[in-house]
Amino acid sequence: SLEVVGLDMAYGDFKVLRGVNLKAEAGSITCVIGPSGSGKSTLLRCLNRLAEPAAGDIRLDGRSILRMKADLLRRRVGMVFQQFNLFPDHTAIGNVQLALRKVQGLPAAAARRIAEQRLAEVGLATRMRHRPIDLSGGQQQRVAIARALALEPELMLFDEVTSALDPELVKGVLNLMADLGRSGMTMVVVTHEMNFARRVADQVVFMDEGKVVEAGPPDAIFGNPRSPRLQRFLSEML
Ligand code: ATP
Ligand code: MG
Repeated sequence: SLEVVGLDMAYGDFKVLRGVNLKAEAGSITCVIGPSGSGKSTLLRCLNRLAEPAAGDIRLDGRSILRMKADLLRRRVGMVFQQFNLFPDHTAIGNVQLALRKVQGLPAAAARRIAEQRLAEVGLATRMRHRPIDLSGGQQQRVAIARALALEPELMLFDEVTSALDPELVKGVLNLMADLGRSGMTMVVVTHEMNFARRVADQVVFMDEGKVVEAGPPDAIFGNPRSPRLQRFLSEML
């Protein structure tokens, strides 16, 4: 399980996260929604230590990740970004293989076997030798997801992973994420896709101005929002 307690984070004098609390059961999907600048990406970045919080704690299975070595944490927490961050000079399989060799220290042959398997699982069996530039945005995002999954994380973080995709490619990536959730992966998903959140999330967290304003099951968040701020946000989204 994941537990965030009283998390504060600031850029200089500017407080981006102000006492964020969050609990996610193992195997659950948490969708984080909220207006631009509310601190969603910063929260995810804290969860894999790309950003260091000023106060509070983050626990994975009861253990603080803030005291964990960064390289160990990288294996336990996978992250996928809006911009796929693939290496342009490597093929799809090369990108996945590289992560396995660098992070897990696997020999080339073993890394290649796992990379092939993961890429096949995300529907890219016939695209493994393509470089990113020769793949669609949706396919590139699948490579990025396969790369993160290859490291066998126990927690996966997704930050607006469909925002840069053409509309017709969004559904495939969302379906892949839904499948991943059904397979029991613990996931925190920052998204503007309200239908996805409504359909797939176990828990929806609404953030505004660095705080969790409201959290609960999708039916409550979308069907019966209590705070005026969330009501306004939803009416603007729909
Ligand atoms: P969006 O929906 O637009 O992605 P967000 O909820 O992900 O927004 P964050 O990226 O977490 O928001 O940013 C929260 C606030 O922190 C914003 O006001 C942003 O300008 C500020 N911020 C983010 N990164 C930095 C940085 N490196 N230095 C200074 N301020 C930053
Ligand atoms: Mg963001």
